[in-house]
Amino acid sequence: MPMPNQKMNIKKLVKKDVAALRAYSAVEIPCRIKLDANESPYGFDEALKAAALLKTNRYPDPEAKALKKILAREMRVRPENILQGNGSDELIYYLIATFGGPVLYPVPTFSMYGIIAQAFGEEKLEVSLDEAYDLDAAAMLTAVKRQKPKLIFLSTPNNPTGNCFSSERILPLLEAARGIVVVDEAYQPFASDRGFLPLLKDYKNLVIMRTLSKIGLAGLRFGYMIASPEIIGEVNKVRLPFNVNALSQAVALAALKDRKRLKASIRQIVTERDRLFSAMEEIPGITPFPSEANFILFRVAGPDRVYKALLRQGILVRNIQDAVKGSLRVTVGTPDENTAFLRALGKIQKSGRQEQA
Ligand code: PMP
Repeated sequence: MPMPNQKMNIKKLVKKDVAALRAYSAVEIPCRIKLDANESPYGFDEALKAAALLKTNRYPDPEAKALKKILAREMRVRPENILQGNGSDELIYYLIATFGGPVLYPVPTFSMYGIIAQAFGEEKLEVSLDEAYDLDAAAMLTAVKRQKPKLIFLSTPNNPTGNCFSSERILPLLEAARGIVVVDEAYQPFASDRGFLPLLKDYKNLVIMRTLSKIGLAGLRFGYMIASPEIIGEVNKVRLPFNVNALSQAVALAALKDRKRLKASIRQIVTERDRLFSAMEEIPGITPFPSEANFILFRVAGPDRVYKALLRQGILVRNIQDAVKGSLRVTVGTPDENTAFLRALGKIQKSGRQEQA
């Protein structure tokens, strides 16, 4: 006999804001060369051995003390200035759970700020970047003054554009804001400047977010934020007790101890990014945008066609047309992968031009 609630419409139970969301698309597309997700091509497989010493029946360290200690030393802050997340995605979630909205961010940028704000039913304030993909200082400042956002998210270097926002445009926001300013430095290791860490002591409302995902450890899901102990203490109230599992903690710790390898892999990616950029500039019809990150945004006529043609050759890039019309984003891979990408792109552009001729 069917139960009386068999006909229940689950969709009708869902909060309006959540019903209107689309799940973050993270489908896996089979490919030979994966240059779509801003991962590092260099892993730390040796560090996996550290997991063998764990006891599976025990909970992980809820405070991730060993990891915080090594990170604190590297960044010259105290462990009390750090909060750990299951990826920095989770910290965005915690920040919005703690402070609420309105949530202000420039667009295009990393999509999770908006998705999570909406999941919490918080007001989203989106301000377009200017034509150089820098912050529209005046419009941002007006939004700060008029709408008094509780949270401002600034990804710098910005995903998907790759550039850093100019600090002369960020500082007035930090000063005018009556809420928290989160500088998301997921891609900072690849940038030429030092980022916002040195400013932490001057601005009470500054939060800096980092992640291990872009430097070879995306599979572990470990992100962290750096802020005053007061902010850390408040956000820590909404953190799930064992949010970073024992395997991730052990492996991340082992990988971070291998500083030489970490630094060398970052240097290699930066060298390759610059080679990739110069070579892309030489391909007819391709306009790459200068990048301080581990990926390059590029404009091309017929991006859908180019995306598909690359994939037919086994090369996966990111089609980000919903965010930046007419553009694709390629992650920096190994030298061989980048060379294969450049060859394929060159060939595709050549054949496209011949068809047009
Ligand atoms: N911030 C930015 C700007 C990102 O691009 C990403 C990943 N795409 C993240 C945060 C999230 O990184 P993770 O959750 O892997 O730490």
